Amino acid sequence: MSRVIFHRPEDQPALASELAPGSAVRDARGRPLRDLRISVTDRCNFRCTYCMPREVFGSDHVFLPHSALLTFEEITRVADVALSQGVRKIRLTGGEPLLRKQIEVLVAMLARLRTPDGQPPDLTLTTNGTLLARKADALAQAGLTRVTVSLDALDDALFERMSDSGVPVATILSGIDAAARAGLGPVKINMVVRRGMNDGQILPMARHFRHSGHILRFIEYMDVGSTNGWRMDEVVTGAEIVRRIGDEFSLKPVQAQYRGEVAARWAYDDGAGEIGLITSVSQPFCGDCTRLRLSPEGRLFTCLFAEQGHDVRALLRSGAGDQALRDRLAGVWQGRGDRYSELRGQAHRDHKIEMSYIGG
Ligand code: SAM
Ligand code: SF4
Ligand code: SF4
Repeated sequence: MSRVIFHRPEDQPALASELAPGSAVRDARGRPLRDLRISVTDRCNFRCTYCMPREVFGSDHVFLPHSALLTFEEITRVADVALSQGVRKIRLTGGEPLLRKQIEVLVAMLARLRTPDGQPPDLTLTTNGTLLARKADALAQAGLTRVTVSLDALDDALFERMSDSGVPVATILSGIDAAARAGLGPVKINMVVRRGMNDGQILPMARHFRHSGHILRFIEYMDVGSTNGWRMDEVVTGAEIVRRIGDEFSLKPVQAQYRGEVAARWAYDDGAGEIGLITSVSQPFCGDCTRLRLSPEGRLFTCLFAEQGHDVRALLRSGAGDQALRDRLAGVWQGRGDRYSELRGQAHRDHKIEMSYIGG
């Protein structure tokens, strides 16, 4: 008989792998700066209905001109300064990051950076997977550590409807295989679950990725941006997802590996691998949120739900030295008090930034 043990892995105390106190700049709520998410483009070849609905991001939508984007040198400089302030993980995102020309050159530049104690950053990328089969080897050779691939359904008709793209599921699956072969594993697969849309795919996805060596992560549908018409009743909670999978396969919780790990992890009892739950809506994790986001044209955002960013491009292009950049980053982080998901419902936002602009 199947058995599910409910237990919140994030409730465990911070683990020893966390860096010594004082080595990272801390925000107004005491949270250290650990992660930098870099959005390298606001463009995408998909029009996922929950992220870039075509009615809003149609053929007349104006994207950022290339001259507005941070150059690879500018991005690398910000990343270098961020490492000196406590960052240990860098994730490239978008829009679709593999649409940025020669992204592997940027990966190589970032992979050469070092933390103050001489360690290379953990360097990852989130992609919709369409170009991954073509790019996986070059990304791995450039020094990328791992990839996360978004995939919301295995059913072709449903996937095409959700991504509004005409791309078959097989293209994404071959991208995932190519990434694993290139050594970019374990590959994480992100599935955003929307009730009445793709929640019928929870079990087919779970069955498909058991024994694959990839980690399937279910993401609660979030009220990011202001274009997706989000409704609470479309959210399928992580607890419900664990229950549904647990009815078929026995699951047990896995310890969080480090403070700030966003996914609650569960392993199949029979050794078929593990799944993750990202419960930003039902069980917010703002208290452990250590992420700073850099937009394509050089604005820093301290929360996915922020209304305003802090420009660093002007500083970069004014010839400012590293100390001025360090002061800017530290100042932005130290002034941070965000905890939108914990306040959801009480915290009204008029102009939330779009996910396709700032990345997941
Ligand atoms: N284009 C890339 C991709 O789709 O993987 C990277 C950028 S995308 C904005 C990053 C992640 O955000 C994806 O896994 C996507 O599914 C997720 N996402 C976008 N809109 C979301 C929403 N409303 N709720 C939850 N996750 C969302
Ligand atoms: Fe593009 Fe990713 Fe947004 Fe889908 S979720 S529209 S693939 S940026
Ligand atoms: Fe972090 Fe903001 Fe999300 Fe809370 S709502 S986890 S502070 S990004």
